[in-house]
Amino acid sequence: MQKTLLIIKPDSVSAKNSGKIIDFIENEGFTIKSMKLKTLSSDEAGEFYAEHMGKHFYDNLKEFMTSGPCIPIILERDEAILHLREVIGATDPAKAAQGTIRNLYGEGGTRNAVHGSDSPESAQRECSFFFPNEV
Ligand code: ATP
Ligand code: MG
Repeated sequence: MQKTLLIIKPDSVSAKNSGKIIDFIENEGFTIKSMKLKTLSSDEAGEFYAEHMGKHFYDNLKEFMTSGPCIPIILERDEAILHLREVIGATDPAKAAQGTIRNLYGEGGTRNAVHGSDSPESAQRECSFFFPNEV
């Protein structure tokens, strides 16, 4: 079993797609281990996405991620990290495969519905970032 971090991003929360995304994820065999509603500060969003500092979309990404509450969730499954990335789909919702979460719920560009950890190192860091006492 492996753990990974899903974030239901502010666009999905404000569009009231959270329940549909959680239903989708549970149907893919993931178990929810931790979950909360959280509004990121600009500093927190900057730290979470530090790897993208200096890229053209960084300021826009921080503004988006602080625009309202998001829902970070620790999920568990076999091959959780890889499988979550597969069902999330490509970064750009316009390019995400049919039936993926970003295809179904992403609005476009930065507003792409969800985040998923991209490696075991990222999953460890990102789960600890939101749930420091639980991992
Ligand atoms: P995430 O890390 O959120 O799961 P990802 O791993 O698919 O997404 P990254 O390259 O890590 O993509 O980019 C982080 C986030 O920055 C993306 O989810 C998206 O919101 C935004 N982003 C990335 N590339 C672009 C781009 N070219 N134009 C606009 N926004 C972008
Ligand atoms: Mg990423």
